[in-house]
Amino acid sequence: MSDTIEKIKCLIIGSGPAGYTAAIYAARADLKPVIYTGMEPGGQLTTTTEVDNYPGYPDGVDGTTMMEDFKKQAERFDTEVRFGLATKVEFDDTVGGTHKVTIDGNKTIEAETVIISTGATAKYLGLESEERLKGGGVSACATCDGFFYRGQDVIVVGAGDTAAEEATFLAKLCKKVTMLVRRDEMRASKAMQHRVNNTKNLEILFNTELDEVLGDTVVEGVRVINNQTQEKHDIAVTGVFIAIGHKPNTELFKGILDMDETGYLITQGKSTKTGKPGIFAAGDVQDKEYRQAVTAAGTGCMAALDAERYLAALES
Ligand code: NDP
Repeated sequence: MSDTIEKIKCLIIGSGPAGYTAAIYAARADLKPVIYTGMEPGGQLTTTTEVDNYPGYPDGVDGTTMMEDFKKQAERFDTEVRFGLATKVEFDDTVGGTHKVTIDGNKTIEAETVIISTGATAKYLGLESEERLKGGGVSACATCDGFFYRGQDVIVVGAGDTAAEEATFLAKLCKKVTMLVRRDEMRASKAMQHRVNNTKNLEILFNTELDEVLGDTVVEGVRVINNQTQEKHDIAVTGVFIAIGHKPNTELFKGILDMDETGYLITQGKSTKTGKPGIFAAGDVQDKEYRQAVTAAGTGCMAALDAERYLAALES
């Protein structure tokens, strides 16, 4: 049950690069945005170590510091940043309608526009050793962390386009990349498979799964299992890249907003507009292809501009 109702112009759900960039632009357009951070303030970047590919940080920056910078910049223009989780949404179908979003089950926000930037979460296998060594050699982002494994041996788990892309990216930096593919064939597109097969320092182990990540505080190797013969063997590596897909954080919008077959929100053309007037989506929640901080920030900017134009059209 809601005990308080607050009326605002622009609500932003999610606090990764897309959410904070939307906030910066919305605030500067005088939309007085309120951003709810979700349970992981700062988003996925707070789980990586060094970010070396975000323009403007010539010496690199750690993900948490970078997201603090995003937050500070949003607050400088009077964005209200609040810790809290959207738990229910009731979106109006009419142009100019009011959208209701419940926060933490007990507070209702009535917003003229809503920008959804709830991101996506990398899937992991669920092994105890994998969880323990996250940040100590286990990663779900080769673009973010691959650089630290230059000249070393790594493994990539997965057989889709992401795994193929990460493996070929890593092969340029690393001495050797071993891909663990659980079936006897890859899911990746033929073009990506071709690229994988033509990479000299990349070996594919078919019918093979990750059984255990070895090492106490940093990765020292992996134990793999052939799922046909049940034979296990160890491989010495310093990096383990899990690339078995991402899950967009869209549970809340099921049956309400249009999604593709994997749950990513669908936006219209080159805009951030969803199928509902006044509801926009930015960042990884609507992008399964690029998934970079800088592209998420770019769509966050677009969402704020789309929201501003939507409100301006209502007034004219
Ligand atoms: P996918 O769902 O396509 O592939 C996931 C892969 O991980 C599959 O090969 C799957 O194996 C494997 N996997 C899942 N769970 C496990 C597990 N427990 N143990 C071992 N392996 C596992 O995800 P992607 O992230 O690769 O791609 C998502 C979408 O994004 C796709 O549509 C893809 O085409 C697109 N994409 C496009 C790119 C491009 O065009 N440049 C780049 C990256 C992604 P199995 O095959 O056996 O199910």
